[in-house]
Amino acid sequence: MNKLIDGKLLAEKIRAELKTKAKGMNIGLAVVLVGANPASQVYIKNKIAACEQVGIKSSAHYLDDSTTEEQLTKLIKKLNTDKSIHGILVQLPLPKHLNERKILSNIDPKKDVDGFHAVNAGALFLGWEDCLPACTPAGCIELIKSTGVDMTGKHAVVVGRSNIVGKPVAILLLNENCTVTVCHSKTRDLPYITRQADILVAAIGKKHFITADMIKPGAIVIDVGINRTDDKLYGDVDFENAQKVASHITPVPGGVGPMTITMLLANTIKAAKHRYD
Ligand code: NDP
Repeated sequence: MNKLIDGKLLAEKIRAELKTKAKGMNIGLAVVLVGANPASQVYIKNKIAACEQVGIKSSAHYLDDSTTEEQLTKLIKKLNTDKSIHGILVQLPLPKHLNERKILSNIDPKKDVDGFHAVNAGALFLGWEDCLPACTPAGCIELIKSTGVDMTGKHAVVVGRSNIVGKPVAILLLNENCTVTVCHSKTRDLPYITRQADILVAAIGKKHFITADMIKPGAIVIDVGINRTDDKLYGDVDFENAQKVASHITPVPGGVGPMTITMLLANTIKAAKHRYD
């Protein structure tokens, strides 16, 4: 029987649990947006609303497009030392004149709730449970766990090797005792490999790139892709046909997306609760 993995429903369930955890903790998340990227504005709005839902106090810092590296760094350093702030999120992408890597490196790793700082990426690599994992990959793991299928020994194939999705999700799957294969644009005979996947994670950024014939019957399919066309969202997986083959599959929208923000909330509470120093 094919089963839809409902990311929205799972996100609501986890958010209710997080609300209980956050109660009385006075947790603060600072969100920083530089410029007026319309998509970023929507993401920030959703993140602020999600904070409210679980009782995290958010403070938004909207900075002008022309903000300099020095000005942004100064704000981040101020937030680093602000005791009422437990998490700092700098919305990406930054305007071209700002060096993303340099800016993100300034965030105190203990407040790096996006999990993009090299310290957190390294802690994830080392399997430290108290690290702040990148949110989308952490959401993928929760979605797989929600199926009730034991991941131990399963062959997980990740298509995509970006620093924010592909690589960290591969490490998390390895930490869950999967046997992991990571594929990318230079991979030879991709369908041959994806057809061996008990768990297939698609993080490519190409509409319906994964077709039904690339999926092993009974596989769990996690579609990370967000591809916008004519005002509609499409995943990286040809959902209509893939759902006939997979045992469990996430839709787009309503799959990985809602879980990404939920993991941001979880990271913020984790950052407030315990710090690894
Ligand atoms: P990137 O563009 O950074 O990475 C894409 C990856 O796909 C690369 O590793 C690339 O390989 C690989 N790839 C591209 N073409 C092929 C191909 N023909 N065969 C095999 N592999 C290929 O994207 P992101 O990781 O940032 O994002 C991936 C998707 O996930 C996007 O649609 C993005 O919008 C979405 N996303 C969704 C989120 C959510 O919350 N739901 C959050 C973050 C991202 P190579 O390295 O060789 O170039």
